[in-house]
Amino acid sequence: MTLEEKKEALKKIAERISACSLCRLAFTRSQVVPGAGDPNSEILFVGEAPGVQEDRQGIPFCGPAGKFLDQMLESIELDRDKVFIANIIKCRPPANRDPEDDEKNLCWPYLKEQIEIINPKLIVCLGRHSMIRLVPGQGSISKIHGQPLRRPDGRIYLPLYHPSAALHNGSLRPIQMKDFQKIPQILRKIKEENKTETKVSKNQLPIF
Ligand code: URA
Repeated sequence: MTLEEKKEALKKIAERISACSLCRLAFTRSQVVPGAGDPNSEILFVGEAPGVQEDRQGIPFCGPAGKFLDQMLESIELDRDKVFIANIIKCRPPANRDPEDDEKNLCWPYLKEQIEIINPKLIVCLGRHSMIRLVPGQGSISKIHGQPLRRPDGRIYLPLYHPSAALHNGSLRPIQMKDFQKIPQILRKIKEENKTETKVSKNQLPIF
């Protein structure tokens, strides 16, 4: 797909999300937060759900957790405009409660289509909800954070703590920063593999 075709396809998904009333969140949201960034990005960041700021502005990670995400991106010389940022669900759960299973299931096709269009090499799962959906059956985030995994779709997934976890628990901050520093190295490794066309297992195996 060309960049223009990707933009158009993502715009159409965003329009469908704006008109979506499949779950109860449609009746409490101020606006939808479909996702934003470079449709050609090699990295897709997937968070949990919009918070109060995101619900007001329609932009993912534009509140306090987003500020920390921006800092971490800056630490690896990335800018949010150069990556794509989305969420598991596209509307804010009232009072920032956890998203419910039916909400996550009903919203999943939108993210699935976004992944197919963007076709990222690396998907960074921000937090438990993102990890459970994108890297199922791997245990708790405290055990697998920072460990890249190849999934049967051939993509590499990197589960990380959610940026707001590090805001609430200062001891997670250095861990989160350290995990984030692995991103450039993982991308380099993926590119090397692609270049040499190494036969790689499609199992859910750590790649390092
Ligand atoms: N937390 C998330 O998971 N996503 C956002 O967009 C904002 C905060």
